[in-house]
Amino acid sequence: MTRRGQSKLCFDQAQELIVGGVNSPVRAFGLVDDDPVFMARGAGSKLYDVDGGEYIDFVNSWGAAMLGHAHSEVLAALTERAAHGLTFGAPTQLETELARVIRRHMPAMEMMRFVSSGTEACMAAIRLARAYTNKPGILKFEGHYHGHSDAMLAGAGSGLATGGIAISAGVTGGAVQDTYTIPFQNEEALLKAFAEHGDKLAGVIFEPMVGNCGFIKPQPEFMAILAQLCERHHVLMIMDEVMTGFRVAMGGAQSVYALRPDITILGKVIGGGMPLACYGGSKEIMALVAPLGRMYQAGTLSGHPVAVQCGLTTLQILADPQHWEHLEQLASQLTEGWRQQAAAYGVPMSTAYQGGMFGYAFRAEAIASKADIDAIPEQYFRIFFTEMLARGVYLPPSPYEACFLSVAHSSEDMDATLAASSEAMAVLAATIKSSAR
Ligand code: PLP
Repeated sequence: MTRRGQSKLCFDQAQELIVGGVNSPVRAFGLVDDDPVFMARGAGSKLYDVDGGEYIDFVNSWGAAMLGHAHSEVLAALTERAAHGLTFGAPTQLETELARVIRRHMPAMEMMRFVSSGTEACMAAIRLARAYTNKPGILKFEGHYHGHSDAMLAGAGSGLATGGIAISAGVTGGAVQDTYTIPFQNEEALLKAFAEHGDKLAGVIFEPMVGNCGFIKPQPEFMAILAQLCERHHVLMIMDEVMTGFRVAMGGAQSVYALRPDITILGKVIGGGMPLACYGGSKEIMALVAPLGRMYQAGTLSGHPVAVQCGLTTLQILADPQHWEHLEQLASQLTEGWRQQAAAYGVPMSTAYQGGMFGYAFRAEAIASKADIDAIPEQYFRIFFTEMLARGVYLPPSPYEACFLSVAHSSEDMDATLAASSEAMAVLAATIKSSAR
């Protein structure tokens, strides 16, 4: 059998029964012209595939696995909780405990509601903004991803950007007629959108640090203008921190930019690897949600006790500042190392990081919007990704996705990644040189 022969077999079998062989499109490795790696297990910073191959994991379940895989304390808490019954469809004290921890770190979330996925939380947040303002419009930015509800499937990042899908099939014109999409960090487009549609806008939804279009840290000036415009036009600021919440900092990107969103959306890390998400904001806004108010939203498995336990234990562990110092050291070691290697090989490369999230792109200047990634030859990414995977480094298989660290990663993991990237960059440099000839 060839290397990854078992993975290939699993993929063939999966494709008979599961659409594209995967349950979320980017996992199919389409953009990198490869077959997905089927994973057997994870431990700490590593993943192990069904052929016995070992990988340093920089996907970390797309950001959810902030403590790495199979953390012993989390597993113990989960096992104990599961032994008391999985789900009751009735409230538990645990939910209040987790909400208390979240509010401590994100004071803008005076009240919240737990749901099971980021998509659900974004969908409810938009409905809530419309209910509160009595206005229909939602402004969003190209390349940002807010889940797969109909209204958010135009000009989105993540798998849609990877697959080159501008607007999903099956979404009616009516479903997106109130969605306005503009380029990110483009002040002119922002001012124009508010001038033309400000009176119709219920909210602006955005990723305060973008993880579905590479990794973009917006200019604080742009964020400040956005906040001012929202206030002036009575438009709600909806921060989608599904990726960045408890990942770029305990207080999320809103703490980094010192902004107080009207509605915050969380997911991924707050479930610690289990399906859990939430949306929240001021008491006044949240009072509109049923049963207090007339905006309806519900869920059979919402606030699932095992997921909530997993999230609670994860956040309690993460609260130790040493973990954040550790993440900072790892991210700076890796990105600085990459930039030095790129300079040595003459490969154009930019990098960025914050907390446990980082990104890279094969162009010299930092990425500011989706258009910047669109303009980079896809082949550069494909070569680097493929060479890294062959050397046991599991990166996200798309230039439109951010990379993720966990507290389980070590400096030795970064050294091993840099050893692999030195060789991968040599291959990439040779290709760039030969294509320039
Ligand atoms: N919002 C952001 C910023 C995301 O990154 C994602 C998923 O990657 C979502 C929303 C949707 O979350 P989920 O995949 O849990 O539905």
